[in-house]
Amino acid sequence: GSLLIAEDLHKTYAHTPALAGACFSIHPGEVVAVLGPSGSGKSTLLHCLAGIVQPDAGRVRYAGRDLTALSDAERSALRRTDFGFVFQFGQLVPELSCTENVALPLRLAGIRRKAAEQVAMEWLERLEVADSGSKRPGEISGGQGQRVAVARALVTSPRVVFADEPTGALDSYSGERVMELLTEAARSSNAAVVLVTHETRVAAYSDREIVVRDGRTRDPDHSL
Ligand code: ADP
Ligand code: ADP
Repeated sequence: GSLLIAEDLHKTYAHTPALAGACFSIHPGEVVAVLGPSGSGKSTLLHCLAGIVQPDAGRVRYAGRDLTALSDAERSALRRTDFGFVFQFGQLVPELSCTENVALPLRLAGIRRKAAEQVAMEWLERLEVADSGSKRPGEISGGQGQRVAVARALVTSPRVVFADEPTGALDSYSGERVMELLTEAARSSNAAVVLVTHETRVAAYSDREIVVRDGRTRDPDHSL
């Protein structure tokens, strides 16, 4: 069955409708690309699916639970244990080394420093940025930084990784390498990926595409 399902989501900001009947579903381990022009509602859909934004109407179900009915505290606890996030830029802590950045979600989960950094270094190796471990984010390239961000998103073994324009700030060569590594790493840990992008070349790394237009989704394969 589906791991994450959204039914008929509506969300309006002030007087701006962002979602007007969006539907979504993803299976465990599946990579789904959410495509559409700027302003069509892609980020709002991702934020609703991840429990960051509450829809005005409609429901999000995750692993059999109604995410929209949980308290804010329950939703943020679930985000920490079950979800990973990769954004376009700015998500690494500049004062920490890359190893410490990747270890951070494990540290927050109560894992001791040495063990957390050991696991972090293994993830940096898998993402082919082991050499960046002792450096700070400001000392490495954008492509290397996104690989570190992918390592940090996957280090807790989340069941869903949310990626919002993860290659948006990269040249096409390093962007494609980041997508290869992200989808490979997600597949090998059976994590589903919700990938928001407006680039068809990035969407090509997905198993399935859905298109958002004016806050509505079109998904030829959609079935609840
Ligand atoms: P996309 O990710 O496809 O660019 P968004 O979900 O960011 O689309 O935005 C959809 C619409 O909602 C746009 O008109 C945008 O300006 C508006 N919007 C998004 N977030 C906010 C917000 N926090 N406050 C007001 N309007 C917003
Ligand atoms: P994207 O590149 O995903 O379309 P944007 O640059 O449109 O994102 O928006 C960046 C952030 O600002 C998002 O968190 C979005 O929710 C918020 N936002 C977008 N449009 C508006 C708006 N009109 N008013 C307030 N916040 C907005």
